[in-house]
Amino acid sequence: MNGKMRIFLFHGVVREHRHMVRNYTRKHLSIDQFVTFMRETLQLHQPVTMDECLKACLGDSDLPPSPFAVTFDDGFENNASIVAPILTDLGVPATFYVSTGFIGTDLRSWTDEIESALEDETVVDIRGVGQGVDGHYESAKEKQALMEEIRQKVKTDPAIDPYEYASNLVKAIGPRQIEFCGELDAKMTWDQVRDLDKEPLFTVGGHGHTHRILSHLGHDELVDEIRTSVNLLERVVGHPVIHHSYPEGMPNCYSPEVIRVLRQFGVRCCPTAIEGFNEFRSDPFELKRILVDGSKV
Ligand SMILES: [Zn+2]
Repeated sequence: MNGKMRIFLFHGVVREHRHMVRNYTRKHLSIDQFVTFMRETLQLHQPVTMDECLKACLGDSDLPPSPFAVTFDDGFENNASIVAPILTDLGVPATFYVSTGFIGTDLRSWTDEIESALEDETVVDIRGVGQGVDGHYESAKEKQALMEEIRQKVKTDPAIDPYEYASNLVKAIGPRQIEFCGELDAKMTWDQVRDLDKEPLFTVGGHGHTHRILSHLGHDELVDEIRTSVNLLERVVGHPVIHHSYPEGMPNCYSPEVIRVLRQFGVRCCPTAIEGFNEFRSDPFELKRILVDGSKV
């Protein structure tokens, strides 16, 4: 399909899969899966940067016949230590969208918190705190189905604060210990963010500060979330940061107000996580992406 821009959305790449619940969505691919996917893609399509995609959106660039861009969301450490060397070898550019509040910390997203708590528990009973997803769960399959239900609920109900919800669930699940898994949990340090951005192939963008769904925030919180993210990044990389991606990125996760505030802080291009290809002249705040996870490739 020539004449379309493909923007691939990845999260991470790990050396091995060794958990039952953690990474069950395979948002972190294995190294083999990632390398194979990139090699096959390079045989059919031509790599471009998000800057080139943005120029095409604005009508002032000639893209190759079948361009693709590589993007990574969230700022996992494996992006710097595993992904960047692979892409450098292949000569493929990429944009890394990082949630600035997680950089240099051991903090996990609310989904990773709940998955970790579920991992080692043999029986999980969250009757009373699940707000509609109450129940009793035992097998890995049941726990994965529970995660799907929780994701759906939290992402569509603006009244739920994801972190408060996760913290109540984790308390109710009562894990004896939550294992910190470097490959799945570690986020980049600020030095890694700065070093990535210095590489000619790579670009760094924002992905909110706390990864909250932007359209669920009140005006002041929204301004604060975006200002903090953009300011922190610009201070570290030393130049304007015009790229951002919406946390969660579904149609209900952004709005005209969100786009207005992003523009106010200098953002010029913000892809969604809505599945699909793009025309060369697309709205740079409505770009679709193709989620690539290890369950599909
Ligand atoms: Zn994200």
